[in-house]
Amino acid sequence: MRLQKFLAGCGVASRRGAEVLIKEGRIKVNGNTVTAMGVQIDENKDQVEFDGRLVQPEKKMVYIMLNKPAGYVTTVSDDKGRDTVMSLVQDIPVRIYPVGRLDYDTEGLLLMTNDGDITYRITHPKNQVEKTYVAEVTGNITMDTLLRLRSGIYLDGVKTRPAKVEVIGATQYGTKLEITIHEGKNRQVRRMFEEVGCIVKRLKRTREAGLILGHVPLGRWRRLTESEVNMLK
Ligand code: URA
Repeated sequence: MRLQKFLAGCGVASRRGAEVLIKEGRIKVNGNTVTAMGVQIDENKDQVEFDGRLVQPEKKMVYIMLNKPAGYVTTVSDDKGRDTVMSLVQDIPVRIYPVGRLDYDTEGLLLMTNDGDITYRITHPKNQVEKTYVAEVTGNITMDTLLRLRSGIYLDGVKTRPAKVEVIGATQYGTKLEITIHEGKNRQVRRMFEEVGCIVKRLKRTREAGLILGHVPLGRWRRLTESEVNMLK
């Protein structure tokens, strides 16, 4: 690849601007100053410096939301040979990974990216990122149970933070609820319902960090819009 194209691809300058930098003697390849135009470099091997600082290609960031079906593990590979969510995003040309986790049997919004900063921001407990789930649970939910779920449930001796919980309908199993939490303890929603005597029969994440799953079909994905990405930053 031509040196000025490489520099432009790294966001150092435009191609014309890179030519100027080369003429000014500010670019080194493998420790040697280059002032001639049209020098070819091997972007995988050669070390290019601009004013003494190593230059690297800008990584193209990819952000998608997958509507995860039940029956997939949220990992890049599974030692038990189960299907992973990676098999649902094979048509993406860069290496992405899931942000956080949904249980094997949980459906819904799963953000996937190669952006480590955003992954950190969304998954770090200190940020208390909001997540909403629709849960179909066994039995009827009394007002007392609702209040208990809302005010927090002890899991492993620690009370969960206050949650928003509303009954939104009835199902063949019992009750359909919407629950919004600000933590990501292991199997949190399922365990919260277990503590109040209900079994979660179906669980789907519908929102996370301001993103809304909407009409993405089950097992399919879409790229985030620019404004959705900006919202996460
Ligand atoms: N809570 C759960 O219990 N399971 C999930 O997959 C997500 C939240």
